[in-house]
Amino acid sequence: MSSEPVLSIGAEQVPYFRTPEFSALMLENERLVKKFAKADDDARVAFITGSGTASMEAVVMNVFSPQDKVIVVNGGSFGHRFVQLCQIHEIPYTEVVPPMGQGITRQMLEPLAGKGYTGFLVNLDETSTGVLYDIKMISEFCRENDIFLVVDSISSFLCDPFNMQELDVQVMITGSQKALACPPGISLIVLSPKAVKRVNAREVRSMYFNLKDILLNGERGQTPFTPAVGILRQINRRLREIDEAGGVDGEVARIGGMANDFRKKIKDLPFELISSAMPNAVTSLHPTTASAYDIFTILKDEYGIWICPNGGDMKDKVFRVGHIGALTTEDNTTLVNAFRDLQLRGII
Ligand SMILES: *Cc1c(COP(=O)(O)O)cnc(C)c1O
Repeated sequence: MSSEPVLSIGAEQVPYFRTPEFSALMLENERLVKKFAKADDDARVAFITGSGTASMEAVVMNVFSPQDKVIVVNGGSFGHRFVQLCQIHEIPYTEVVPPMGQGITRQMLEPLAGKGYTGFLVNLDETSTGVLYDIKMISEFCRENDIFLVVDSISSFLCDPFNMQELDVQVMITGSQKALACPPGISLIVLSPKAVKRVNAREVRSMYFNLKDILLNGERGQTPFTPAVGILRQINRRLREIDEAGGVDGEVARIGGMANDFRKKIKDLPFELISSAMPNAVTSLHPTTASAYDIFTILKDEYGIWICPNGGDMKDKVFRVGHIGALTTEDNTTLVNAFRDLQLRGII
């Protein structure tokens, strides 16, 4: 859910954007995103008009080539997306597949040490199953093996502690519609100085996903083509809101508090936790007495509450409850009361 100030910007006219005012707003967006990602002063941010997948694809295209050899953690539908992108762009890759609902271990990576891998792609929070990977362990492995680390933080940015510099992360991706709690339509890529060099040294066969061009325009707070101006203005409001409320650490603590509150309140409901390494952003649950998708539909149609269903073969087995954005512990109580009502009605 978006905050009231962010919503009210959505109701305004969208201004023309080749102006000093919009450039200043974009430069401020870049500064605050770098601050919250704990990125190097010389890091850069690319704002892509497109959903998170657009930035995932732009990164794969601009930082890797068929001469690379990358490791992809495939623990669910978002990991699978990186696999598909490597296939489409002909990047040689090896998958690491953890058991469903579990993280990856050093033992799983060990056979890949010293084998000439040049890149590592991981979704820090694999949102489809709600698993937060051990980024410290991954970071150490990459440092020891001189591997270029790319992290999809789309659902973990602002939710779980993250320090791009300390973790030696070269590229971090996030999007407008997760913890930034804005409408979908913008995704962003934070590039370390090393990543900027790499992008600038490469030729990419794409007009829209040319990060070199995007970074060059970004130096003056502009984009090569018309961006989703309205959403970028909402992102600006939201970043300032977080900054004024104590910055990224405060937001991470707030979302962590929301997650703990919810998890405490559902202890006696007929749900099993499916993740052994839960992120703050989301709780994935397996209802033991009813279809997950039916619960989603009934809550939406009869209670006006939206939880998140899963797709594919998890459709009836798993639903997810988000803890991000403008939610309060009273919202958790409202949802838990609805679950109890479903119990009284014999639905769960
Ligand atoms: C939401 C999400 C994405 C982006 O999906 P889009 O639908 O393209 O915005 C990518 N990775 C993860 C881990 C996500 O949670």
